Amino acid sequence: MAKAFAIKILAALGVLAALWLGDAPTSWWIAGLIALSAISLIAWGVFDVNSSLWAPTLWHVPGVNAVSLTFDDGPDPEFTPRVLEILARKKVTATFFVVGERARANQALLREIDHQGHMIGNHSFSHAWNINFALHAGLTREINGCNAIIEAAIGKRPQFYRAPFGFKNPALGDVLAKQAMTCVGWQVRGFDAVRSNANTIARRLVLKAKAGGILLLHDGSGLQGTQDRSATLEALPVIIDGLRARGFEFKRLDELAR
Ligand SMILES: [Zn+2]
Repeated sequence: MAKAFAIKILAALGVLAALWLGDAPTSWWIAGLIALSAISLIAWGVFDVNSSLWAPTLWHVPGVNAVSLTFDDGPDPEFTPRVLEILARKKVTATFFVVGERARANQALLREIDHQGHMIGNHSFSHAWNINFALHAGLTREINGCNAIIEAAIGKRPQFYRAPFGFKNPALGDVLAKQAMTCVGWQVRGFDAVRSNANTIARRLVLKAKAGGILLLHDGSGLQGTQDRSATLEALPVIIDGLRARGFEFKRLDELAR
């Protein structure tokens, strides 16, 4: 928050100084350039998923010969159990960034994810796009609301948060610090919420994943794209085998970050 405030004040002072001290039309150009730079910097902090401008963001861990699978938008009664089945068969533990509203409606599934040794993270309460533009209080409600449901179901407080759509709000750093939580981005994503071709999803992840990378897939349907996660289910074993063939281990997010 303090950072955003400082950027706005400095930009406003710069614009005023340029207009006051310079001669038109050069001073207009300089003032415009200062305003545009400030807006670009703020927008970069909001829209770049791995920018740490507003909140320190974990998206890879250099020097580790492992990758970490993460699944967003669940828990989903149809697809999450099938993802769990594949992970159990392949002996991989992962992290599930759940949406509070969905977690509340599927608490048994939440317990099952935890029971199988996976980690549960916070993906906001409502997953509404506009929470990334909410003020401090609104964002706190979204994050705490989801935490409360997870804690009630499994008795553990989430340690990681992933913003819906990956956008970040200037208040996010303050809100997460108060909850002792870390913001998580991704090194590579499968675009499996919008693509229905399992080969394309698998190829992308297997080729583009780097050592220490956090990988993003979706077990929940319909929030950011299609209703059908069949392509994710079909791609998942191929992704696991392909990355193991490249010599990578799979680590849960907390183990990767350790
Ligand atoms: Zn999402």
